Amino acid sequence: MENKINEKISIIAREITKGGNNVVFTGAGISTESGIPDFRSKGGIWDKYRPVYFDEFMSSKMARIEYWKMKEELYPDLIKAKPNPAHIAVAELHEMGLIEAVITQNIDGLHQDSGIPSERVIELHGNTRRARCTGCQRIISLDEVHRRIEQGDLAPECECGGYLKSDTISFGQAMPVEEMEKATDLSRNAYVFIVIGSTLLVHPAAAIPGYATTNGAFLVIVNLSETPYDDAADVLIQGKAGDILPEITKEVRRLKEHQCK
Ligand code: NAD
Repeated sequence: MENKINEKISIIAREITKGGNNVVFTGAGISTESGIPDFRSKGGIWDKYRPVYFDEFMSSKMARIEYWKMKEELYPDLIKAKPNPAHIAVAELHEMGLIEAVITQNIDGLHQDSGIPSERVIELHGNTRRARCTGCQRIISLDEVHRRIEQGDLAPECECGGYLKSDTISFGQAMPVEEMEKATDLSRNAYVFIVIGSTLLVHPAAAIPGYATTNGAFLVIVNLSETPYDDAADVLIQGKAGDILPEITKEVRRLKEHQCK
């Protein structure tokens, strides 16, 4: 079993070192080892809360209170989360010039914390460390919203009368056009496309690996559970991102050192 995984890691590393246009696509599974639960695994967020849809948020104060109650409960874990070995391994590949960009469904900002420049992180679902007014679109720090909620303002509003909402995409809310375009372009031009920690079930983001494979990308999936793309993968590893990614980066480093000799 271990030999088989080592063999797969060597194949992935060889493809990555061929260079050029390698793209990483991440989901909640890359951050579980940083202490942020994913949504769909047992014990994940959807076992405890129900999603508040965008139109409910916009039309009901009760829904906005429920939304912020969930966010407030998740807030302590979120602010103390740090990048784990999987984030760091991806950042090291980027530093070696082997990763063009990271497309992420995550809203936790941990790729940026691991050292990848913000312009190289395409956030499809926004970022939960900041809030935005649904009216004037002003960005507000999450700390300010947090302070207001603690003072009893359970569904805070902007001076303009708009509602303050985490700067993330809720169910039923339109996807960010620019990010989707960038992600589509990157995927279409990807040489190796590496999926880490995603069920690949949430659309439209989940369609993105399909753009890569249609254009002949070498598809790698590192995920604990099955995904609808498993049969299309050139290499599939069902394992923990925090165990596997550092091994891939180690092997890439070894190959690069070998090439330099
Ligand atoms: P998901 O919850 O649907 O699936 C996560 C996947 O990761 C599962 O298949 C699970 O088996 C796998 N996984 C869990 N731990 C893993 C590990 N250590 N190593 C490898 N795989 C692991 O997540 P999703 O497909 O990304 O989509 C859910 C949505 O949830 C996304 O849109 C995202 O916006 C949001 N979300 C984000 C965060 C975050 O920012 N950290 C957390 C929860 C949910």
